[in-house]
Amino acid sequence: MDGLTPVEQRAPGRWQIGTVAAVKQETPRVKSFRLELPMWMPHLPGQHYDVRLTAPDGYRAQRSYSVASSPLDEGEIELTIDRLEDGEVSPYFHDVVVEGDQVEVRGPFTSYFVWRGEAPALLIGGGSGVVPLMAILRHRRRAMPELAMRLVYSVRFAEDVIYADELGDDALITFTRQPPAGWTGHTGRIDPALIAEAGIDSGIAFICGSNPFVEAAAGLALGAGFRPQQIRTERFGPTG
Ligand SMILES: Cc1cc2nc3c(=O)[nH]c(=O)nc-3n(C[C@H](O)[C@H](O)[C@H](O)COP(=O)(O)OP(=O)(O)OC[C@H]3O[C@@H](n4cnc5c(N)ncnc54)[C@H](O)[C@@H]3O)c2cc1C
Repeated sequence: MDGLTPVEQRAPGRWQIGTVAAVKQETPRVKSFRLELPMWMPHLPGQHYDVRLTAPDGYRAQRSYSVASSPLDEGEIELTIDRLEDGEVSPYFHDVVVEGDQVEVRGPFTSYFVWRGEAPALLIGGGSGVVPLMAILRHRRRAMPELAMRLVYSVRFAEDVIYADELGDDALITFTRQPPAGWTGHTGRIDPALIAEAGIDSGIAFICGSNPFVEAAAGLALGAGFRPQQIRTERFGPTG
């Protein structure tokens, strides 16, 4: 199909050193990092990279981060990272990494959580779970804008909306704690009414967020008529 990412999934590349080309503060606790990669290869929207930090004494910490950008951005990827107060890797990115720095990454990793142009598509994200969904949305806007797709996005507070300046009619936001002043849209947790308002009840549902969020949203997708094989999920929660 024209416009689709002409790639098959294959083994991820080797570890490589990316250069931070840009840092964007998305919300008070979320930043996006644009990395230039010397061994870049096209990803499918939904795939992730691993990031590895090495301390001077050789101690290493490794975490996964979804690609937020479209594969049409050749030579670079964008990672969007939520700062966890007591975390190891995410605070490092927020407090230490600046433009021009180098970071070690490997990917993109094979996954069933990928969008190959299927439509219609219902995207349901909670918090930073919106990141791989944004890759899908961005790629669809650039490659095949006519495809039916809607994002349902749950955040806690007004200030927590990631990619706020990019979300238009194809996104429905709900605020679970405190909406912006004057907000007339949806508040509270995602519910059957909001899913119905999204207007997509066939095709594929992509769901990403914390474990409990994914469980609840998958239940809602089933309730809206999606069969289990039409639902793809990605969980960001702690691995223990
Ligand atoms: C496939 C995949 C893709 C991911 N993509 C993204 C992404 O695009 N953006 C992003 O910000 N994160 C993403 N994550 C989560 C990310 O990999 C890390 O788990 C997260 O950044 C925390 O790492 P840390 O080293 O800062 O915290 P850690 O030192 O690992 O953990 C600190 C504390 O937070 C808890 N914790 C760990 N992870 C989470 C979490 N996700 N939510 C709530 N509590 C947690 C731990 O149990 C611990 O108590 C993804 C995870 C997976 C598996």
